[in-house]
Order: sequence, then C-alpha cells, then structure tokens
Amino acid sequence: MRLDPSTVGLAKIPFNKPFIAGAELFHIARAVTLANLAGDGHFTEQCAHVLEQRFNIPKVLMTPSCTAALEMAAQLCDLKPGDEVIMPSFTFVSTANAVVQQGARPVFVDIRRDTLNIDEQKIEQAITARTRAIFAVHYAGVGCEMDTIMDLAQAHDLLVVEDAAQGVNAFYKGRALGSIGHLGCYSFHETKNVICGEGGALCINDSHFTVRAEIIRDKGTNRKQFFRGQVDKYTWVDVGSSYVPSEIACAFLFGQLEHLDRIASRRSEVYATYDRLLATLASSAAIGLPCIPDECQSNSHLYYLLLENEATRNELMACLQSQGIAAVFHYVPLHTAPMAKKLGLDSRELPVTEDVANRLLRLPLFFDLTSAEQESIVAAIDCFLKPDSIRLAA
Ligand SMILES: *Cc1c(COP(=O)(O)O)cnc(C)c1O
Repeated sequence: MRLDPSTVGLAKIPFNKPFIAGAELFHIARAVTLANLAGDGHFTEQCAHVLEQRFNIPKVLMTPSCTAALEMAAQLCDLKPGDEVIMPSFTFVSTANAVVQQGARPVFVDIRRDTLNIDEQKIEQAITARTRAIFAVHYAGVGCEMDTIMDLAQAHDLLVVEDAAQGVNAFYKGRALGSIGHLGCYSFHETKNVICGEGGALCINDSHFTVRAEIIRDKGTNRKQFFRGQVDKYTWVDVGSSYVPSEIACAFLFGQLEHLDRIASRRSEVYATYDRLLATLASSAAIGLPCIPDECQSNSHLYYLLLENEATRNELMACLQSQGIAAVFHYVPLHTAPMAKKLGLDSRELPVTEDVANRLLRLPLFFDLTSAEQESIVAAIDCFLKPDSIRLAA
C-alpha cells in the first residue's frame, strides 16, 4: 500500500487538519460521567437543538454521517425501482449511492460554470414521468439556485433533498442551506467546517416526515414513540437501520458548535487571504477562482483554482506535492465511474462537469492554516504558472 502523505500528516502542508475549537474533550468527559454513551442522550439533543435554533430548521435528527442522512432521505422519498432522481454528476458518491440503494436511478444534470452547482436551467428537460426528486448539492458551501429548484419541484410534484454536507452555516437569500428543501443533509466529517470525526444530521423541513424518520433512524422501531408514552410497547414497524450517532461524537461536536462564529470567521479569513494573494495571478495568468453569487453567503468551505487544462492541473498538483503541499482534485464525475457503467448511467453528455473536473485543483484550507503557509502555497503556484518569458520581462 502506498501512503498518501496528505492523509498521514507527513506533508509539510496537509490538505486538511482536524482541530479543537474549545471544550470538545471536556464535553466528552462529561458524556462519560452522565453515564450515557449510546445515542440520543444529552449531547445528541443539544447538538440538534443548536442546529434547529441557529438555522431555523423545524426538526434536526443527528446521524452518524451525511451518508446516513442521505440514505434516510432517499428512503423517506419513498423511491421505487425505476423511479428517477435528478442530481449533479459532480458530487461525492454518497449522493448517488443513497438513491441507488433504494433501487432508483440517478439522472445526472450538468453544472453551472460559475458556482459548479447543478444548472437549474437544465433540470426541467431532464424531468420525466418517473422523476420523483431532485437532490441538490451545494458545492463548496455555495448555495444552488434554490428558488428556481423549489419552483420546478412544486410544478412537477417532486421532493427536494439538499446535500448540504459542505453547507453547514452557509446561506441562500438569508436562509440556511439544509433548511430550504423538504429534507437537508449535513456532514461533520473531519474534512468539513465543523467536525466530530464522523457525523451528520438530517434536517426535516416538512414535518410530515418526522415520525417515519425517527423510526427509520432507530432500526425500524417505534422506540421514540414508546419513550414519549405514545405507544405501550416498542416494536418493529418499518425497514430501518442504525442511524443514531454516539454521544461521544455529539459531545465533541457540541464543543465545535459552541464556536460556530469563530470557526466561520477564521475560515473566511483564510479564504480572503487566498483571494488577495491570488488576485494578481488570476488577472495575469489563465486561472479561474471560485465565484460566490450575491444571493449566497458562503461558509468558506473550500478554495479551488481552475487551470487552463488537465495537463497543467496535473503538473501543478505534482509540483506542489513535491514541495510538500497537498493540493487535490475533486471529483471524478460519477457518470464516468465504473459503477455508472455497471448501472448504465454513463450515456449522458455533461460537458461542463467533465471540463471542470479535469481542470480543478483544491488548495489546503483548514482552521489552523497560517498566512505564512498560504503565502508559500501561492508562491509555489506563482513560480509554476509564470512562464520564463513573463518572469524575464517583469
Ligand atoms: C462529505 C460529503 C458527503 C459525505 O459526508 P459524510 O459525513 O462523510 O458521510 C456527501 N456529500 C457531499 C457533497 C460531501 O461533500
């Protein structure tokens, strides 16, 4: 096995580094003294409460991951074999897996060149009599064009699930990502903004899903109703799984949620530093930088460059790696993956998705990244990109 320096921490500047914001370890110790380490104890409830209050979400259920929340959402959409779900191909595998697990078919739609989110103008032509839902992915914590997506969904009687894995504490027209569709899914994986190692949440914005969501989450039992005294015994009532996170994970997460604002402002500083350091380069060399539309308030989840072509991207990535800087690409479009071929999902032409995926390079961005480190990253990029002629002329 080859060790990837970015994941084992040998890189001089790793791509990501988990961090402690405050009292995470103290809260874990408290969870132990409260003698409840399984799920749905004090900290699970506190985390759900903070998310509901902060982001104006009617009901939040904490989950072990965003993947789990997406699986619950797909089950709640009551997808049947042959049903279709519209989503971008430019996303993480979990968006599609959730749908495929239910026997339904992802229908991939191309992305916008500016935000790299699903192109809302191309959704309607992908809707058929079998379409049941739209899974909108907020790439980089920048909101999809949700007004148009919700209007389309209403006109065609579709459900909307937001994959807001990257969108915690980001907003579209003042509304929190994850709070706009019928269901929303958050991630607290260590690569995201607010973390607990592995963790997630299901946001339930349409209350008619709540009772069934609680059952699916608790192994298909009505245990929650039993504890509330609504039924006199608890038993197996639906297909479900183990989608309740441990109190240890939620205790850690609670320590981070207490510092949401500080985490947000630190990340936005790092983001602004990249913007500032790369501005000259972006105007003189052929690179593109991330774009945030006016109606979106980003959470500075990730920073990327768009290089001129795939070869340049790969050479720059190798050049940075050789200097101990872990820059990575994102994503292998799902419609080009082996699994898409197996499922017959590889026929669509998605020119923007393919073009962008070939040219995109993500830069290190984490809470503890220093501006000196950012300067050395940009100096390395600068040195690679500036042809000798320009450097000599300057
Ligand atoms: C990270 C991510 C996920 C998966 O989140 P987990 O919590 O690791 O399961 C899903 N979708 C997108 C878009 C992501 O970025």
